[in-house]
This record gives sequence, C-alpha cells and structure tokens, in this order.
Amino acid sequence: MADTKKKVVIIGGGITGLTAAYYLQKHARDHKLPLEVKLVEASRRIGGKMQTVVKDGFVIERGPDSFLERKESAGRLAREVGLGDKIVNNSSGKSYVLVRDRLHPMPGGSIMGIPTEIGPFITTKLFSWPGKFRAAGDFILPPSEKKEDQTLGTFFRRRLGDEVVENLIEPLLSGIYAGDIDRLSLMATFPQFYHLEQKYGSLVRGMKKTTPPRKAPGAGAPKKKGIFIGISTGLQSMAEAIEAKLEDGSVMKSTRVDKVVKSENGYALKLSTGDTLEADSIVMTAPHEAALHMFPEHEHLFEGFKNMPSTSVATVSMAFPESAIKEDIDGTGFVVSRNSDYVITACTWTHKKWAHSTPKGKALLRCYVGRAGDEAIVDQPDAEIVKVVLEDLRKTMNIAAEPEFTVITRWKESMPQYTVGHKQRVEALKDGLQAELPGVYMAGSSFEGLGIPDCIDQGETAVKKILSYLNF
Ligand code: FAD
Repeated sequence: MADTKKKVVIIGGGITGLTAAYYLQKHARDHKLPLEVKLVEASRRIGGKMQTVVKDGFVIERGPDSFLERKESAGRLAREVGLGDKIVNNSSGKSYVLVRDRLHPMPGGSIMGIPTEIGPFITTKLFSWPGKFRAAGDFILPPSEKKEDQTLGTFFRRRLGDEVVENLIEPLLSGIYAGDIDRLSLMATFPQFYHLEQKYGSLVRGMKKTTPPRKAPGAGAPKKKGIFIGISTGLQSMAEAIEAKLEDGSVMKSTRVDKVVKSENGYALKLSTGDTLEADSIVMTAPHEAALHMFPEHEHLFEGFKNMPSTSVATVSMAFPESAIKEDIDGTGFVVSRNSDYVITACTWTHKKWAHSTPKGKALLRCYVGRAGDEAIVDQPDAEIVKVVLEDLRKTMNIAAEPEFTVITRWKESMPQYTVGHKQRVEALKDGLQAELPGVYMAGSSFEGLGIPDCIDQGETAVKKILSYLNF
C-alpha cells in the first residue's frame, strides 16, 4: 500500500529545528494527522549553540546562558518538556561598563543605554559634561526623516551623540550581537526605537512614556528577581528534554543535508550518508551559510545573503577558589567599551549572577573575546587566550591565583550580523521561496532574531505555515 503520510523534514537540530519538530509532532498526534516529521542534524549532538559542560559541581554554559523571561515562548517550551522545576532567574545585581580602565555602574533607569530617568544620567561619571549636554539634544532634535532602514550607529549618534553611544550603547549592543553598530540594521534589531522617535519626537521622552517607573524596594522587601531565565541543569538539558519528547527514530544525527532538489511530488534531500529523503515540506534552520548552496538550482534566491557576515567569538570560563578573588566587586558583571585597551569584550561574575552554576566556596568568571572587525584572538591557542583574558581581568580585580580549570569555546562565524537592509532581504527570500520552492521555509538565527525566544517563535511560525501549506 502506498504511504499516504505527508512528510516534513527539518534541517538542523538547534533550538529552532527542535521547536519546529516538537510542535509539529505534537500537533499531528493531538489531531491524528497523517504526518511524518524527521529532523536531520549534521553533528553528533542536538542543541546547536546550546551546549553545557557539567564538571566538579559547576554548570558552565559554552554558548547562551539564559533568555529573556518577558519573551514567553522559551519559558513555555521549557515547562512543556518538563523543566518547570529547573527554571531559575538571575540575581539582579549591579552591572558595569568598563571605559578606559574604570568600572562605571550602569546609570539607573537606562534601558539598552537609553535614559528613562534623568537624575542618574546627570550624576554618572560615565560621560563628560559636553557628552551629557549633547545627549540632551535628543529633546530638541526633530525625528529623522522617514527611512526604510539605517545603521544603529547613525540613529543613536544622531539622537544622543558619540560619547553616550561609545561609552554605553555600543558596548551593550555589542554584547548581544558582537557586531559593528555602524553596520547593523536598526529595523532588524530594535525597530521599536525608530517608532518611538517618530511618535514622540524624542527617544528619551518616548522611553519615559512607555516604560513603567522603577519602584524603590521597600524595607524588608524580597530581592527583585532578574529578568533572565536559565535552566539549573544547563541549557543543553533543555535541548535534550525536547529531543526526548520527539518520536523514536525521527532524529537523524551525524547526517548533513548537502542538497535539496525539486522532485515530481515535492523535494528530494541528498544526505551526507548517500541516502535521499523525500519531503512535501521543509524547514531549513541551519545558519544561512549552509543554505547558500543547498538549493543548487535556486541559488539566486539567496543572493542577498551571500555577503551577510557572521562574527567569531569565544567564551572563556574560569573556575577559581572564592578566596582567589581578593577585592570583591558588588555586581554581576561588566561590558567593555571599544575605546578601552582590552581584549575581553564582557565579563560575567557567573557565580553571583547564577547561583546554580557554581559550588560553594568557588567562583566562576565567564569572559567573551572577539567582536566584529577584531576576531583574530579567537584563533589563538588556548594558553594565549587564557593569558590575555587574565591580564585584562587583573586590571579590574585582584585575582591572586591561576584558574583551577578553564573552558574555552570558539564560536567561529556564528553570530549572524543583520546589516542594513536585512529585513528587506528576508522578505525577498520569503517571496522567492513561495514562488519557486513552495513549502520550503527558512527559520532561525540568520533570519528573524537570534535570541533563543526569537528562534523558538520562528520554529512555531514555521509549524503554522507548514500545517496550512499541507492543508491540515
Ligand atoms: P543553531 O543553534 O546554530 O543550530 C543550527 C544547527 O544546524 C546546528 O546544530 C548545526 O550543526 C546544524 N546544521 C548546519 N548545517 C547543517 C546541514 N547542512 N544539515 C543538517 N544540519 C545542519 N541567545 C540568547 O537568547 N541568550 C544568550 O545568552 C545568548 N548567548 C549567546 C552566546 C553565544 C556565544 C552565542 C554563539 C550565541 C548566543 N545566543 C544567545 C544566540 C543563540 O544561542 C542562537 O541564536 C540560537 O541558539 C541559534 O539557534 P538556531 O537553532 O537558529 O541555530
């Protein structure tokens, strides 16, 4: 008897692909649909960038360590796969910006570096007086002309001036995108800031109007929980929990999709094992570099992504006895401005931010190296990376010992850069796919958001599109 089931293949087993596979299989089960879903992952393990090392009582994240709680899809998925009791919030300690050898507390009430309260911006030593006066220009400068897109740098420099951008906004944004703000797209990253400017005529006024005022904690009030969620057993365990919910035999690891060609009734996927998979519909969740040559007869569709850069970074986690940190700083970490003579771009005092990460009596520091245009450090040998990271750290804190152990993870070309025009390129790709490769969808960090919740949202959107395409 002919197999009447519709077949969906998901390419890539990072969080986007896992989400798509999980919700598709769940929907098919709940609605008794004749649907077969396979997930094909090139490496030996699923999870993509979600990787955790559990060692000597430490829970060390190699890649992402958490996600924003207010973007609800990630917490919901974690609870669905049985990790509700493993969800933890970060401790909401002070954070700092390192500018030319000095750690400055983040001005109170600033959101992504934009003031929502005036007092802390006047008193901070992070900016000179001329820098502060220039930032006040935001109240009188007219909104920029209506534009399809512009760089984050152009937008913020115009509204708040170079100094606020270089000493605060750039280090914060770089912390998220490891990018060059003078190339990154405003509309693909923070379109809300453009809309606030257009509506209120001033970014600061717009932020003040749309942000609830901070409450001063009352005496004896419980400590406010942080805005991020982590998983106490590590983010890799979230990927594994999703995998455990997938149907037996539906995950193919150590199998790369090399090529996809249109066939009589759908698509044929040529695999690195020499096998071919048939599909009626496909979700491609691998990074855009993998997609460029995957559809050889339709490469022109990916033209807009050929020059899309991805930055290389490395995370460097160092475990110490607590007693090695001589001058403790009250806070959970800092980002580093580009105008400082440092190799590290950020440091989290992980033992203070995430209690679950570190056993009693120990300290865990996690630093980042590498940023757009300055990535050579990532290719250095481990010993050299450790040396320069320790040199940098010792300029800010008194560390009286060598680390007990270090976990270095190189992420080569793995932070996709949404440069100006990115949204238009994504829309053009979607239109092209619909016209030439119906039933094929792109999702994941190269396309419509690189935070974990954004990737989960894209996986869920792809599920809806597939169900509609297959008339279910
Ligand atoms: P990936 O995780 O890259 O998964 C893609 C998968 O596709 C991989 O497993 C790969 O092996 C596979 N693949 C590739 N080619 C093929 C092929 N031809 N055939 C089959 N499979 C293929 N986000 C946050 O929200 N919070 C954070 O704290 C945070 N920190 C980060 C820190 C670092 C160092 C990095 C690198 C990223 C961080 N991010 C963070 C971003 C977030 O981790 C990623 O954007 C997200 O995990 C990407 O998921 P994905 O499924 O789109 O892609």
